[in-house]
Amino acid sequence: MSQIRWLGHAAVEVLISGKRVVIDPLIKDNPLSPVKLNYLEGVSVVGVTHDHYDHLGDTVEILKMNNKAKLFATFDLEMYLVNQFKVPEAQLIPANVGGYVEHEGIRLALTKAVHSSEHSDPTGIVVSDGRTTIYHAGDTGLFEDMRLIGQVFQPDYALLPIGGRFTMDPKQAVIAVDMIKPRKGAIPIHFNTWDMIRVDPQEFVKGVKEKGYEAILLQPGQSIEL
Ligand SMILES: [Zn+2]
Repeated sequence: MSQIRWLGHAAVEVLISGKRVVIDPLIKDNPLSPVKLNYLEGVSVVGVTHDHYDHLGDTVEILKMNNKAKLFATFDLEMYLVNQFKVPEAQLIPANVGGYVEHEGIRLALTKAVHSSEHSDPTGIVVSDGRTTIYHAGDTGLFEDMRLIGQVFQPDYALLPIGGRFTMDPKQAVIAVDMIKPRKGAIPIHFNTWDMIRVDPQEFVKGVKEKGYEAILLQPGQSIEL
């Protein structure tokens, strides 16, 4: 069984090839989170796109709850967490923007993102089992290289921020979908968590459908089978 579950904001859980990957796990301070932190006790991999608090979230605590969980982020961000919060080096999957990293039967990759961050460059994250590929764009503005991300990784699903202000807005995210060309669907994230990123997701859904792609609007806690 493969599944994507939206945990509100940019937090996303992916079940794939028997692995449980959580990306940008903001749980405790996430007003939209449908789960408590102990829900993530058994995760295999914690992916972090960048170190803004609403993405780094509860990463350190999750890694400390479960020493089998691995961290996937840029090596610079990983080393920052080692030095600052004593995350054990044994829990790192070292990486940077580039090709796939094989990890216990799944493939992980970091992509470019146009944004800022404190301790390393911001990224997007790709998770794949070789059959189904999921692209989480992280926080990003619209950029032309999304076309390349689509070409290289050929994602089935693209999780894209649409909240505006700090990231793409719904209109820009529709243009992104047209460049990434997700085969099975585009899923909006990073909106309506707080008033500053309040938008109408239907604007995204409508635009994506007009371009001939599938849009999947999830409620926090809702999941789709892949
Ligand atoms: Zn950010």
